[in-house]
Amino acid sequence: MERITIAIDGHSSCGKSTLAKALAKTLGYVYVDSGAMYRAVTLYFIQNEVDIKDAEAVKLALLDIDITFKNIAGKNTTFLNNTNVEDKIRSMEVSEFVSPVATISIVRTKVVKEQRDLGKEKGIVMDGRDIGTVVFKDAELKIFLTASPDIRTQRRYDELIAKGQKVTMKEVKDNLLRRDHIDSTRADSPLKKAADAIEIDNSNLTEANQLEKALALVKAKTLQL
Ligand code: C5P
Repeated sequence: MERITIAIDGHSSCGKSTLAKALAKTLGYVYVDSGAMYRAVTLYFIQNEVDIKDAEAVKLALLDIDITFKNIAGKNTTFLNNTNVEDKIRSMEVSEFVSPVATISIVRTKVVKEQRDLGKEKGIVMDGRDIGTVVFKDAELKIFLTASPDIRTQRRYDELIAKGQKVTMKEVKDNLLRRDHIDSTRADSPLKKAADAIEIDNSNLTEANQLEKALALVKAKTLQL
């Protein structure tokens, strides 16, 4: 089968990364978590007290940021300047700050360029907010994943609790809704469904069901090529 580019977009905690990872594993594709890149930039800004209103400081800081991914014990792991930051970038502190950081155009320019480089060879599944609309506008398959806010909150809450973080359901829901709002209303690359994306609501689907649906779409697309 011809190798294609698969873009998966949707709101926070709608299950994008679960589907993207499963698809990549089944198809033998590369998986890239684009949100992890914005989270890594955000972590750097927090650690180095970069004032995001200071355009010059942001520009200089970006020159110092190197984001890479490695497979550690079968898990896709994010590195910031050669340090494993996978756990730190998932903290509530980073979640609170990431959407404002992701509104900054020079941040997006840097991150999008690196994302496109990672996708040069095709055979890639990337999940995020603007993958089908901006990063890979020509992706052969675009999926827009949705789930109800309550289901998304429960998923994120379970994930954070399993990692030993102390959070309440309300904090998690408020954070998700705040990020949804900022992500959907920003001027540069707002989250929206691409005109040619196929929507899947996974509120009542198991992980296996959603993978099955997506694989059927991959098959249909590759047969058309
Ligand atoms: O996917 P995840 O929830 O980890 O993304 C964290 C944040 O990064 C999002 O809320 C959004 O502000 C930003 N993001 C983005 N564009 C992407 C992926 C993530 O602006 N393609």
